[in-house]
Amino acid sequence: MQIPGHLAIALAQSRLPPFRSSRRRLFLLLLASLFPDIVDKTIGYVFQAMPNGRHYAHNLFSLIGLSLLVTLIGGKAAGYAWFSGYLGHLLADNIQRVPWFFPLKKYRFNKGRLAFEPAQLLREGFFLALVLLLNHLPNQR
Ligand SMILES: [Zn+2]
Repeated sequence: MQIPGHLAIALAQSRLPPFRSSRRRLFLLLLASLFPDIVDKTIGYVFQAMPNGRHYAHNLFSLIGLSLLVTLIGGKAAGYAWFSGYLGHLLADNIQRVPWFFPLKKYRFNKGRLAFEPAQLLREGFFLALVLLLNHLPNQR
């Protein structure tokens, strides 16, 4: 999944009660939804220190460790927002392979390249626009 899809999922999550009332939690949710790609694609494709863009930040240990760190710094609500955004990212990426137990389990990292597929971007852009539209509708209670 690419940036528009990850943002769409995080914005859909933002409709849930814990995130609706706080801009700070919404910011953490959105940041966490992009964080694994910001870290791993920078390491993999910019610095070329790994063969692809899913490794150090795309695993269970980063999810839990960084969520605990955010909780220690910002409190339980901030940690929950971070955890939710980060988990949403990993689950969305799980359509393709996610190295959930790296570095404890060995994975063969195939050489990848940073590519933006226009059709995929269009689908995710449509998904993002739909979520933005739904987020601006009044709550139906
Ligand atoms: Zn990713």
